[in-house]
Amino acid sequence: MTGVAVHLKGLRRSFGPTHALDNLDLAIEPGEFIALLGPSGCGKTTALRVLAGLEDADSGEVLVGGKDVSSLPANRRDMGMVFQAYSLFPHLTALANVSFGLSLRGRTKSLTRAREMLELVGIGQFADRYPHQLSGGQQQRVALARALAIEPSVLLLDEPLSALDAKVRVQLRDEIKRIQTEVGTTTLFVTHDQEEALAVADRVGVMRAGKLEQLAAPADIYLTPATPFVAEFVGLSNRLPGTVVGNEVEVLGTRLPMLSPASSPSVTALIRPESVQVTADPEGSGRVLTTSFLGAISKVTVSVGDELVVAQVATDRLASLAPGTPVRVTLQPNPVALA
Ligand code: ATP
Repeated sequence: MTGVAVHLKGLRRSFGPTHALDNLDLAIEPGEFIALLGPSGCGKTTALRVLAGLEDADSGEVLVGGKDVSSLPANRRDMGMVFQAYSLFPHLTALANVSFGLSLRGRTKSLTRAREMLELVGIGQFADRYPHQLSGGQQQRVALARALAIEPSVLLLDEPLSALDAKVRVQLRDEIKRIQTEVGTTTLFVTHDQEEALAVADRVGVMRAGKLEQLAAPADIYLTPATPFVAEFVGLSNRLPGTVVGNEVEVLGTRLPMLSPASSPSVTALIRPESVQVTADPEGSGRVLTTSFLGAISKVTVSVGDELVVAQVATDRLASLAPGTPVRVTLQPNPVALA
């Protein structure tokens, strides 16, 4: 199985007055794992459904492996799909669910293939169980095995983890990444969960109102957001007042480079908690208000003048930062986004 390129070109799709897709362009490299991330209603699922052939676009093209598949029905697009809701046949075993779509291969070959797929997704031992005898995470593994069994040219995952509890979600997320890397199938993963998108994807496409706002590697999305929307949607930020000085912005006395030009001299800068350093200092202008233990890394909220600033600190430093402690607050000179 090797990946094919996917190109969504100028897709538009409206539902009454709603522009679910508004000239969406997205080019996926062969074998690439793309996550589409965005708030509810931004058009992620519609994009996936148009690619799958489950929904028609009003205009635009869908190219798979360089071929225009826009007019092909879903069952001729050669795509494997996993949805949020477990979509297994309840009266068939895990093995039968996976071999179901393989009947053209003959019975023995399809059963062998289905067993291999169940091994690949880590549940070979549950081949003979029925869906109601499997946990939610195991059922989604069967669904993934079934989607991959047909050797699809594209794998489509629509919020496949959102019905699972937190721990299983992380486990299966990491498994999906491992399996996708192993089989190399071009993959589009739709999620509203930023951590999930950043953790699995080669590139993350952040969508807003039917368009792609930014398409970039996870670290670039996080560290150099292209727009204020991306900066605010991905990760947590302090919103702090800044004054523009030349091509820098001064925030809490530190001058920082800006990711985009300012439109007025007074701006709101978005500062990541990990860019804020807090040091106990009797002469400091800040004061620790609260601390929250979060594991290896913890959170400290500091008041500086009228502002509240959240900083991320190594937990072993919490002892020196008890509430009431006077502190000096400095900012790392990372480029900042403006709200
Ligand atoms: P969510 O994360 O909530 O699933 P999404 O980003 O996947 O959201 P879509 O499901 O693609 O968003 O929907 C985009 C917009 O199109 C929304 O405003 C939605 O209400 C609208 N929409 C989608 N499908 C239909 C439909 N069949 N009929 C009417 N409106 C629709």
